[in-house]
Amino acid sequence: MLNNPWKTRIIRFAHLHQGQSVPTATLTGSSRSILGKTIHKRTFMSPSTNWLNRIKGEIRYDEPIAHHTSLRVGGPADIFIVPEDVSDLQLIFKNHGDMPLFILGEGTNLIMNDKGFRGIVISTKNRFKEIEPPVFFKNTAGEEGAVITAGAATKMSYLVKNLAKYSLTGLENLVGIPGSLGGAVFMNAGADGTEICDVIRSVTRVTAEGDLETLKKSELKFEYRKTTFPTKGGIIVSAELELKKGDHTEIQNTIDSHLVRRKSKQPLSLPNSGSVFKNPEGDAAGRLIEEAGLKGFSIGNAGVSIKHANFIVNKGEATASEVIEIIEHVRDTVLEKTGVGLETEVIIVGER
Ligand SMILES: Cc1cc2nc3c(=O)[nH]c(=O)nc-3n(C[C@H](O)[C@H](O)[C@H](O)COP(=O)(O)OP(=O)(O)OC[C@H]3O[C@@H](n4cnc5c(N)ncnc54)[C@H](O)[C@@H]3O)c2cc1C
Repeated sequence: MLNNPWKTRIIRFAHLHQGQSVPTATLTGSSRSILGKTIHKRTFMSPSTNWLNRIKGEIRYDEPIAHHTSLRVGGPADIFIVPEDVSDLQLIFKNHGDMPLFILGEGTNLIMNDKGFRGIVISTKNRFKEIEPPVFFKNTAGEEGAVITAGAATKMSYLVKNLAKYSLTGLENLVGIPGSLGGAVFMNAGADGTEICDVIRSVTRVTAEGDLETLKKSELKFEYRKTTFPTKGGIIVSAELELKKGDHTEIQNTIDSHLVRRKSKQPLSLPNSGSVFKNPEGDAAGRLIEEAGLKGFSIGNAGVSIKHANFIVNKGEATASEVIEIIEHVRDTVLEKTGVGLETEVIIVGER
């Protein structure tokens, strides 16, 4: 290999699926450093991947996904793209071919397996964050409200606090959910009797075919921690939310009390991925796990939180395998001791 930046080196990807064309690439001298990491701009030569050269955003290779998830576990993604704009997203969806895609928001509901992801991970993180000023209206009953449009990468807590500035009410219960708006819409995130679907008016996404479409709320189906779109795949780029005008002090007090409650009940000082299991109808997964005597149960550096039994925490250099072994053990033990079959809420992805 030659170090001279004017010369090029050939890079072959080791992890591609059988039958997938090898994206032979040249590593050019144009590298830059972001957060202490050197990012090399590669020029693809294979006809099946040369579309990557047209991406305006950032492309990283073998990017450790552990750096992008709240649980801090997970292996590398072969290709990690931080798109610049919607046209980058359309380019990816229209051209990725057989290469698997995964959408990453804030990674707060995610376990990436230790061997990582063979394909492309799209991160919305650094773009799609704009919040448009609210458009106020009065309904026929004379009640004041507003419609606000926010980018998919907007952090939920930031969004809720932003709404409070305009005395807009409806999402206070979701403050403290550490994910993005896109992730919240995809998961139909909720807390204390409120779900994001309660305030959604429309969702704009790039479809699996690469088309930009806006879907009205009535075109979406919402369930507990799940939103179903008319067609599968694609990526949410923004959502339009409808809120009511409320009392500023009341909204602020609700926000403050939720943040205090979360801090006292959740193990926020250790890396975690939120609730691991969905709450079964009429019960709480945490209560069942505690009843099964599993609080504190550990494998390696991962363990069931002492503070909240439905959280698994990373106590050091935990691996995804350790976390998944705990999940399996918890599921088996709870079933054996209580007869309840727990279903995971966290998304588990990648090669084990
Ligand atoms: C401490 C803590 C507390 C939490 N409390 C709650 C809670 O009270 N209620 C609750 O519901 N959840 C909670 N969560 C879980 C998590 O924060 C939410 O599910 C959140 O909505 C996930 O958003 P994210 O951006 O992190 O998504 P990610 O974890 O990055 O992704 C989750 C899923 O959404 C998909 N996705 C993400 N962005 C997009 C997009 N733009 N377009 C299409 N698909 C997308 C991903 O592909 C993946 O399948 C908590 C998590 C933690 C760590």
